[in-house]
Amino acid sequence: MDAFAEFEQATIAAIATPPGAGGIGIIRISGPAAPVVLARLFCPGKTAAGTAFKPAAPLSPSFVLPDYSGDFPSHRLCYGWIIDPAAGQLLDEVMAVYMAAPATYTREEVVEIHCHGGYVVLREILALILAMPGVRAAEPGEFTKRAFLNGRIDLTRAEAVIDLLNAETRQGADLAISQLGGELQQRITAIRDALLAILAVIEVAIDFPEEDGEIIDHGELHRQLLIGVEQPVTELLAGRTRGRIYREGAAVVIMGRPNVGKSSLLNALLREERAIVTAVPGTTRDTIEECLDIHGVPVRIVDTAGIRETSETVEGIGISRSRSRGERADLLLLLLDASEGVTVGDLELYRSVQDKNLLLVLNKVDLAAGEGAPVIAWEKHFPGLGRVEISALTGGGLGELELAIFQALTGGTPLDPVSTCVPNARHGSVLVKVRELAGRLAAGLQNGLAPELLAVELQLTLAQLGEISGESSGEEVLDAIFSRFCLGK
Ligand code: GDP
Repeated sequence: MDAFAEFEQATIAAIATPPGAGGIGIIRISGPAAPVVLARLFCPGKTAAGTAFKPAAPLSPSFVLPDYSGDFPSHRLCYGWIIDPAAGQLLDEVMAVYMAAPATYTREEVVEIHCHGGYVVLREILALILAMPGVRAAEPGEFTKRAFLNGRIDLTRAEAVIDLLNAETRQGADLAISQLGGELQQRITAIRDALLAILAVIEVAIDFPEEDGEIIDHGELHRQLLIGVEQPVTELLAGRTRGRIYREGAAVVIMGRPNVGKSSLLNALLREERAIVTAVPGTTRDTIEECLDIHGVPVRIVDTAGIRETSETVEGIGISRSRSRGERADLLLLLLDASEGVTVGDLELYRSVQDKNLLLVLNKVDLAAGEGAPVIAWEKHFPGLGRVEISALTGGGLGELELAIFQALTGGTPLDPVSTCVPNARHGSVLVKVRELAGRLAAGLQNGLAPELLAVELQLTLAQLGEISGESSGEEVLDAIFSRFCLGK
């Protein structure tokens, strides 16, 4: 009988390393057929007697792979050759590892083949694997989805995997690692236990209706609800407010008239030439975006096209885009040319963004300084606005500017990723609903609501909370989460 025929569940395979040439390229296989797949392709580089062995290419039609499938050691890298038995070809010299279920990433049988990192070889080997019965290409995130569905990790840990892959700063990675370690899940479990303890009392009261007055101490249950549910939920939501920016990053937009030095500032912050700098107004035709680590906050910094009325189409598009970027920014840097003082154009621009989170940045102080330089009443024109003086050309004041950006975004308090739990947007919206439901429960307890109705409210709250760990998440929620993964993860 065909070794594949007995498996009901599909085995999945994907290239797990990024496309392009690399030192090593890894193909990952998960599912019941994984060891059979390996046995069909892999020829050990040593004979049973321990001497080196390389099959001669092209393989002779009588070549038979040694039958070792039963005794492939688990969790041990083995040296050998990948062969295409039908074509009689040797495809690559590899290290392969078989990991027996359930001690694997997915809790299934897993095989990884570490090839030479060229894309052609990887594609060829993957094609060979996918041609085997019962094996199909993995969808993005499907390995992690299987880990979740097989109960190895809860949803918060699966999401932490994506966060760790996408982290742009050390602090962001630390938050992901803390979540991966189960920090958020532990807090959610504690809230769930508190709800279950209240539910247990209510259920006893339902079973003994004559004595429910003595069983239910409304005041005590209300206290338990406050301490065990409402307070920790509120704390988690506060952690989200404080830490959101470390997880999701902040958008900072540089705005200013043409030629005040926006592109120069972006370059100076990036310490490399990215935006074009010229002395002709209007050279930055579109917005340019880069990511920076500013004191642990991942900052997407955007250089906008010079804001001014223009009839030129390409630049016009850039300008309208930069206005709309400004709308969505967490912070706007209003850049002025300190050597020119305040112009009508600067004031117009200021009026159009006055209600935003703004920082005034005075550039070209190298030109503005010195004897006889005009004294400009910045405070009169921009009352109450934070102000930093810089020279994008010499690099003067950039450290102060970075600090001012950090303070404007975070209020100046650095985040301790070990003690702070920062729920993501999805967790945040579930927690808001849990808090609402807990509020209703509290009112119910105060008003002496019938135990049956209290039990219904408690069940609803528990179901809502279960969405965070994935116990009660619908298929759409799971699809939305796992589709954010890359292939092979
Ligand atoms: P943008 O149109 O606002 O992006 O301005 P650019 O960055 O293209 O700069 C316009 C001109 O100002 C260029 O010639 C820059 O070299 C010059 N510039 C920018 N920043 C400074 C500065 O701090 N000091 C001096 N002296 N020149 C600057």
